[in-house]
Amino acid sequence: MNLSQIRTALAQAGIRPAKKLGQNFLHDQNLARWIIQQGQITGEDFVLEIGPGLGALSGEIVQRGARLLALEKDARLVDFLREKFADSKCEIRHCDALDFDTRTLFAERNVKVVGNLPYYVASQLLLHFVDFPSRISLGLFMLQDEMARRLSAKPRTADYGALTLRLQLHHHVEYLRKIPRTVFVPQPEVASAIVRFTPRDQSRIEIFDYKFFREIVRHGFSQRRKQLRNLLAPDVVNWEDTARKIRAPLTARAEELSREQWIELANLIAPHDAKPAAQAGPERFPIVDENDREIGTATRPEVHENNFRHRAVHILIFNGIGELLLQKRSPWKDRHPLLWDSSAAGHVEANEQYDETADRELDEELGVAAELRPIGKLQASEKTGQEFIVVYHGEHNGPFRYPSEEISAVEFFPVDIINRWVANKPEDFAPGFLESWRLANANLA
Ligand code: SAM
Repeated sequence: MNLSQIRTALAQAGIRPAKKLGQNFLHDQNLARWIIQQGQITGEDFVLEIGPGLGALSGEIVQRGARLLALEKDARLVDFLREKFADSKCEIRHCDALDFDTRTLFAERNVKVVGNLPYYVASQLLLHFVDFPSRISLGLFMLQDEMARRLSAKPRTADYGALTLRLQLHHHVEYLRKIPRTVFVPQPEVASAIVRFTPRDQSRIEIFDYKFFREIVRHGFSQRRKQLRNLLAPDVVNWEDTARKIRAPLTARAEELSREQWIELANLIAPHDAKPAAQAGPERFPIVDENDREIGTATRPEVHENNFRHRAVHILIFNGIGELLLQKRSPWKDRHPLLWDSSAAGHVEANEQYDETADRELDEELGVAAELRPIGKLQASEKTGQEFIVVYHGEHNGPFRYPSEEISAVEFFPVDIINRWVANKPEDFAPGFLESWRLANANLA
């Protein structure tokens, strides 16, 4: 849309741009095209647009054949857009984007989030859509230039801070281009810029405890001029030793540490066992015949190397509104790292019965107790990794306390989202969960 088309559209719809909604409309269609080109959007993509306004970016997205879901808070613009895009493959939803349930994005392939963000809520919107665990394959945002510089900042610069690290932890953030005020109507008070987020390879982000990482980074930047050895004194017993391990100067301040050094620092000082529990103990498991009768015991490596039949439990915990808790396996797991899995699961150990294992795993993995009801049993097969699996149902609303060596995150999901997610992207799940969920769907219906 050019300037006069925008003025006409605003007049026809009876709209005076509202400052409190951050309404500055882009009137340079060549620029809108250039922006969308940076997202390499194709017909395979599901694009979520935040704040479509009069549709400058939406039109470019729709033209590329992508499915578009646009979230607009201003009802007057929603009516205008629905008419404008009546014939297109797009949905215009009237809502506050901060209320959008981002869990639904897990069920979609190739999710790209774009938006010329309303500046008054830009950082909340970014955290809402781009935080961990990530659900996007790309993010493309117009932001205030100052914020774009903060998000894409490098260490040892004034722009580098806690928000930089939080968002760069899981994404590469590129500053693409500065945008002058003059391409908007009405003109904003400051210049803008385009930034692009692309997810990093998750298997290389070995963060032990995300919450701790965020806290320590926030603390480190709370007094930028103060040296970390003073600021972190209560958390770090021996700073000389720690600084040497992370290759930082003894006098380092928060802004001097790279993302990798912050990760190392957080992993070193977070309270945790020296060894990941999953690989630590000399656990012995009962090995069984094709009828699940015990024929001996073997260690974990022996069981897996020899493909011995053995026993496991999967526990499905639902909350009061019928949502299922899933866990994201940590990068340190020897099997299926980073995949989504049942609420809790584990091997039956020597001298243990299935029910005992279920109670123990629920306590060890989620830090809670609940009444568990067996809902079925899966036969040992290639699909279950030669495990006989008893699947349990339980109810709990949390909060949960989980060991970071084993679990990166837990989250409740509505059942219909899980079903769509499993159908669209089964590769996101540990195979044992897929089998357990199939059984649960058949038995709980
Ligand atoms: N994308 C359009 C463009 O480039 O011309 C409009 C961008 S304008 C900067 C921001 C848009 O976000 C406005 O249409 C505004 O009504 C909408 N908006 C503001 N707050 C919102 C929120 N919380 N949720 C969804 N949309 C919002």
